[in-house]
Amino acid sequence: MEKAIALSKTGMEAGKGGPFGCVIVKDGEIIGEGSNSVLDQLDPTAHAEVVAIRAACRHLQSFQLEGCTLYTSCEPCPMCLGAIYWARPEAVYYANTKADAAAIGFDDQFIYEELDKPHEGRKIPFKRLALPQAGEAFRAWAEKEDKKVY
Ligand SMILES: [Zn+2]
Repeated sequence: MEKAIALSKTGMEAGKGGPFGCVIVKDGEIIGEGSNSVLDQLDPTAHAEVVAIRAACRHLQSFQLEGCTLYTSCEPCPMCLGAIYWARPEAVYYANTKADAAAIGFDDQFIYEELDKPHEGRKIPFKRLALPQAGEAFRAWAEKEDKKVY
């Protein structure tokens, strides 16, 4: 956690993005780390957790963080929460809370509120375009015999 917090400071000071850092550990070794890099990568998804998950998965040559522990300097936002669930580490430790983040201008509460709204009531409208061919890839996946299930 000390390393994750240190990354939150150095990344911010280097102008990479907001004050957020993340470290992923397996068997006592750091296998991935990152700081928020939204500004220098011009990537709204480059949160510290996503940067660290990508690095750790490259290190492991795996799409899963089996047996890993994730240390993040702040309670994850909804996007990172989803990424963490897809990556499946064993545990997550965080330092600052989402209330602490909101107090310095990083308020993600509105995203949680959007989840409960009907599509047509969201700030960004979600509209279904159900072309008949949309289901073809799904049917092919369901029937694919050599697929890697994850
Ligand atoms: Zn995030």
